Amino acid sequence: MRYLVISDIHANLEAYEAVMAAAVPLAYERVLVLGDLVGYGADPNAICDRVRALAPHALIRGNHDKVGSGIESPEGFNAVARSAIRWTHDALTPGNREWLAALSAGPLVVDDFIEICHGTPFDEDAYVFDDLDALRAMHSARRPLCLFGHTHVQVGHYLSRDQFGLSTADHQRPLTIPLDEANRYLINPGSVGQPRDGDPRAGFAVVDTAAREVTIHRVEYPVAQAQARILEEGLPEVLAQRLALGR
Ligand code: ZN
Repeated sequence: MRYLVISDIHANLEAYEAVMAAAVPLAYERVLVLGDLVGYGADPNAICDRVRALAPHALIRGNHDKVGSGIESPEGFNAVARSAIRWTHDALTPGNREWLAALSAGPLVVDDFIEICHGTPFDEDAYVFDDLDALRAMHSARRPLCLFGHTHVQVGHYLSRDQFGLSTADHQRPLTIPLDEANRYLINPGSVGQPRDGDPRAGFAVVDTAAREVTIHRVEYPVAQAQARILEEGLPEVLAQRLALGR
């Protein structure tokens, strides 16, 4: 099975369209979506409509989907995120708000091999920032390959019997990570709509369970268009600026 894995779209329609176009020749069969469809970006309804039409094989919510749909308060959000999520909540159609509110919480087991979560398998809202977080996440995962989002950083960790390390030390993209049967893996496909690892290109991944490999990709998209949309909607300017920096 070949899965297309996308996460943290954040209402960035230009980035989403670029990812979906780049994924076509990669011959994926099913789609996995790791949450945060909305928040920050200017097109929450267009993204909801497209993801609904895509009918992903597995789809879980992110923290912005919870707050944007109104089922959780924006208390933990910083000022910029809070202002954007308030705008998002008001901009969403009642139908899309309801649909987002009903999305499943992670973690979610996809098959014998894969589990998905937004933040970590032990807490959907927790971040994997360092090695200790990654180890804890891998130990709590119920499948050898755990796919996660939330940090907007494209990264792969592995855990073998006696070693723990990074599968993504090489900055080349696309990068194929072979999956050893004896190991556990924790892989973030990167963010479609708001990368934060210094590379402004949209991130995504393809998992091939038969070949036992994950390939992480980056694709350029019209950043200036996404920025113009953010300003047009009166969202905080910094949200447009950060897209160009990938921060
Ligand atoms: Zn996010």
